[in-house]
Amino acid sequence: MNEKTLIELREDIRSKKISSTELTKFYLNRIRKHDKKLNSFITVTEEHALNRAKIADAEIAKGEVKKLTGIPIAQKDIFCTKGVKTTCGSKMLSNFISPYDATVIEKLNNEGSIMIGKTNMDEFAMGSSNETSHFGNVHNPWDLKCVPGGSSGGSAASVAAGLTPCATGTDTGGSIRQPASLTGICGLKPTYGRVSRYGMIAFASSLDQAGIFARTAEDCALLLSCMSGYDSKDSTSSKKDIPDYLEECRNLNSTKKIGVPVEFLQDLDGGVAKVFHEAVKELEKMNYEIVDISLKSSKLGVSAYQVVAPAECSSNLSRYDGVRFGHRADNVKDISELYKKSRSEGFGNEVKRRILVGTYALSAGYYDAYYLKAQKIRSLISSEFNAAFKNVDLIIGPTAPDVAFKIGEKLNDPIAMYLSDVYTVSTNLAGLPAISIPMGFKNNLPLGLQVIGNHFEESRLLSLARQFQEVTDWHKRQPGEFK
Ligand code: GLN
Repeated sequence: MNEKTLIELREDIRSKKISSTELTKFYLNRIRKHDKKLNSFITVTEEHALNRAKIADAEIAKGEVKKLTGIPIAQKDIFCTKGVKTTCGSKMLSNFISPYDATVIEKLNNEGSIMIGKTNMDEFAMGSSNETSHFGNVHNPWDLKCVPGGSSGGSAASVAAGLTPCATGTDTGGSIRQPASLTGICGLKPTYGRVSRYGMIAFASSLDQAGIFARTAEDCALLLSCMSGYDSKDSTSSKKDIPDYLEECRNLNSTKKIGVPVEFLQDLDGGVAKVFHEAVKELEKMNYEIVDISLKSSKLGVSAYQVVAPAECSSNLSRYDGVRFGHRADNVKDISELYKKSRSEGFGNEVKRRILVGTYALSAGYYDAYYLKAQKIRSLISSEFNAAFKNVDLIIGPTAPDVAFKIGEKLNDPIAMYLSDVYTVSTNLAGLPAISIPMGFKNNLPLGLQVIGNHFEESRLLSLARQFQEVTDWHKRQPGEFK
């Protein structure tokens, strides 16, 4: 059962082959059985899930089905969930019970889906390995000694191990696509503004975007139609119509030319390059024209990102002062000590590092040298993508520079860790949609193919991803221990 796609499960529920209660119990049992090894969940919402499943079954009996009625889903613990602990992977929020639902949660609930739990993540979504979580690191189901990627590592590992058919994630610089690549599943980061950020705990507001993990492009398409749309509570959300992504991903096929940025391949590991070239061959067999393109400034992406994202986070995280919500230190003598002690105790090292870097980059005297410069690079990256999309319909490349690395391997080398995002950050800086889909293995560990589209062209990239999955079966492989 756990090998089934979301679309197949939806069919089984609609045809009453299985009830939502049975399906929900099935996944709850798998979590109970397997998650000790993975640590992919921070909270399992069993009671809530079983109550919702009962309601779903009653609706199904009356023939009232919505897009996701009865389908279990895991939610990244960055989304506020009413009455349920929402920690963002931090000690700072370890006791925070949200009084409201994020728009993403509300939308998925309204379509009848069932939250089975909140997934583990890097603290405040800062990381590429899920090792910065206050709740312990997550293990990769393909090799428990390896990281699952980050920051949405819990969501990725739980889908890869079949503990849930799908999960939400967020992507500020690669946090959906990189873990999808490292765990052998699909991860979609929509166009900036496609999905509301209301109730999604802010890291870097001009880059953050909610998205999805699932096994197939079709499953991602279905979930995207449920999550997208304008929200008056997020002024950066788009008023653009929401297409029927599932329908378009099945039928739309106007893509002809696909670009491969030469910069993406220059220093690429030989084993990864080999797998990538095999994927390119598959696409050529499908009659796509593959051409070399150049995105010169993409090499500066990580440097620009590591200024812009910390700058925004230093501002966003100033709200955690121990006064209104979040961790509050004991035994303090004045307000200044309250701030200092609460923040020193509540935040982990990576978060502190980012706040320091961001505050520095924004301070008088350094603003022009760092922040302004980074913003200029950001504009350059955007204009290079715009120019590229005049010539090609989609852009492809590897999602990550390599397969999953060992737990602890990069923990004390922040620069090496930041370089895990070398192929993903540019699309966030430009606000573009991108998906990672499984394209093969190196040393028995999965690798992802990244497909990048122009703004709001999710259907186009989903369609290519679906076609690739019709001729390959990488997405059907499951990690041995979790079959
Ligand atoms: N790994 C990147 C970082 O550490 C991206 C994180 C994200 O996308 N949330 O900032």
